[in-house]
Amino acid sequence: MGAYRADDDYDYLFKVVLIGDSGVGKSNLLSRFTRNEFSLESKSTIGVEFATRSIHVDDKVVKAQIWDTAGQERYRAITSAYYRGAVGALLVYDVTRHVTFENVERWLKELRGHTDSNIVIMLVGNKADLRHLRAVSTEDAKAFAERESTFFMETSALESMNVENAFTEVLTQIIHVVKEGPWKVGMTQRLCPRDKPLMLVARMMYPL
Ligand code: GDP
Ligand code: MG
Repeated sequence: MGAYRADDDYDYLFKVVLIGDSGVGKSNLLSRFTRNEFSLESKSTIGVEFATRSIHVDDKVVKAQIWDTAGQERYRAITSAYYRGAVGALLVYDVTRHVTFENVERWLKELRGHTDSNIVIMLVGNKADLRHLRAVSTEDAKAFAERESTFFMETSALESMNVENAFTEVLTQIIHVVKEGPWKVGMTQRLCPRDKPLMLVARMMYPL
């Protein structure tokens, strides 16, 4: 038997936000990653602000607190509270609807305007299973991601393709930022409970 770890025993807690146009599959990416569920209907999340899942990265337990919109993106009415303290983001578009890719630029601007410059951003082209309906090429999206210095992956929440990879990559990169970041020392000193010398609460990394 391995060592027992309580449910809420983690080394890092990271807030990650999901953004992108309505209907691109944000909620399904989240349910696929946190509950391994997919739903054919599009329903707005009511009453739930975020879902969590803990994963192992190297020798650390990372708890991701992933925020999903409740449909406000339809009116571009996402509040600054939604972005506050986020250290990672999945910016999602739908590979079958070109307009959702065109809007990525606006989302990126809004995201960068509300978060720390160290935030890890993954551009996600979802619904890659709909091959016959593709309207955004992988090359175009890759080029955009390179220009904007974001990570990039195509996913399918329906087929469980790359969903795990996309979230895991964001969380792994956040750890790299945390470990190499200039503010590492200050943070760890401030946040060290004696029994958890490496615990970092993302919210405190970027003071409110
Ligand atoms: P949100 O508005 O961005 O949260 O999008 P939803 O997660 O509610 O998904 C919108 C619609 O797209 C729903 O009908 C989903 O079933 C569908 N959808 C989501 N992800 C995928 C996917 O990877 N492939 C396919 N074919 N449909 C998807
Ligand atoms: Mg949704």
